[in-house]
Amino acid sequence: MADRVRDERGMIPGADTIGAPQVTEPKAYSAPTASNAILENARKVCVEVLGPHAQEADRAARPRVENFEALASYGLLGIAIPKEFGGLDAPAVVQRQYTEILASYCGVTTFVQAQHHGASRMIAGSKSALLRNTLVPNLAAGRSLCAISFAHLRRPGPPILRAMFADGGVRLSGTAPWVTGWGLMNQVVLGATLPDGSFIYVWSPANRNDYPELFEQGGPTRDDWGYLTASDPLPLCTMNASATVAIHLDNWFIPQGHVLSQSDRATMHRNDRNGVLNATAMPIGCASAGLRILEHAAASKKLSSITRAAKSFADEVSEARNQVERWSNPESAAVPDFFERAVGIRAWCIELALRTAHAAITAVSGSANSLDHPAQRLIRESMFYTVQAQTIEVMDATLARLERDV
Ligand SMILES: Cc1cc2nc3c(=O)[nH]c(=O)nc-3n(C[C@H](O)[C@H](O)[C@H](O)COP(=O)(O)OP(=O)(O)OC[C@H]3O[C@@H](n4cnc5c(N)ncnc54)[C@H](O)[C@@H]3O)c2cc1C
Repeated sequence: MADRVRDERGMIPGADTIGAPQVTEPKAYSAPTASNAILENARKVCVEVLGPHAQEADRAARPRVENFEALASYGLLGIAIPKEFGGLDAPAVVQRQYTEILASYCGVTTFVQAQHHGASRMIAGSKSALLRNTLVPNLAAGRSLCAISFAHLRRPGPPILRAMFADGGVRLSGTAPWVTGWGLMNQVVLGATLPDGSFIYVWSPANRNDYPELFEQGGPTRDDWGYLTASDPLPLCTMNASATVAIHLDNWFIPQGHVLSQSDRATMHRNDRNGVLNATAMPIGCASAGLRILEHAAASKKLSSITRAAKSFADEVSEARNQVERWSNPESAAVPDFFERAVGIRAWCIELALRTAHAAITAVSGSANSLDHPAQRLIRESMFYTVQAQTIEVMDATLARLERDV
């Protein structure tokens, strides 16, 4: 499989095709030892709580609350939040390792809690001290959780969720088509498009009565707050228990103090490219879970074919993890063909998750079809990781990876 990586790199348009100098590959980055406690706690929660209930969590109607309570009890729902608000402020590499561990035990819990981390970071960066101080300590402790919805901003064509400046704030109209965790989460960070095509990110609760201190000033004229309605949870083949809804907004008023930031398409595109490896921890975790099933089958069935496959996938998962670490190193962004290499690694991780789950099913045989068996869950989870945070460039790289070699 190492050869496969080398072949793939050879095919990617590299430095010489654009006339830039050849560069050496950046070194891998290792986590500070002080962060080990975070990962040990994550492992403990996974082994004791998430893992034993993973099939149940997958088949539930909504996110399994006990999983979130267990993560919160170790402060892990504040992993991305600055220490001044009670968070763990873990380095990016530790957050990746944490996510991989969780994803190797329970995909739906991993995904739902990941939405909370992104939203919490944005609120912690808000200019409003009142908003930060009211919300972020509770988000860090997991006493409340926040959803996030901005993927729709990537879509071409007329905006699906529009924003207009109004007296004292902003009004939103349209649909946020993907909002995960709704119900477990009672607040959301929404991205919407302004008339000039730029983007605005705002915080909104489902019910402003939950946060009276944040609505004491700056109401709309004539007390016209507009409407926010959430759909029922979308029926899904994978992540069905993620409580993913569509939120419909009609002239929904957001006070100026709840505007988090403004940005534009070019910045989003740049961030998507620079962060293309951010979404690899979940598929690698999924592949690790498939590998565990293979290793278990190898030990119980004692077939040389399964032993061989387990060894091959162990090597490949480890190699993929190393490549992600190497290319997530901040120095790597300076490499001229960084993006071409990184998006190829992202596509590899997507395909590896699917292929490892498929191998696990093959080795387990018929009982892998049981809803009580994790192998069928993993193949469905890998389907979700294929489209999560998908950009046109990730789609292209994934399809190229999946096409038959000619
Ligand atoms: C179960 C589930 C839960 C989710 N939860 C959340 C959530 O909580 N928050 C959130 O923000 N997102 C969420 N998402 C969205 C997810 O991260 C992906 O963005 C989404 O799955 C991509 O699918 P889409 O149909 O929205 O694709 P699109 O975004 O419509 O398309 C994918 C990419 O291809 C590009 N593209 C598509 N067609 C064209 C074209 N004709 N020309 C040029 N470019 C094109 C788009 O610009 C985009 O970059 C969720 C998705 C799922 C399936």
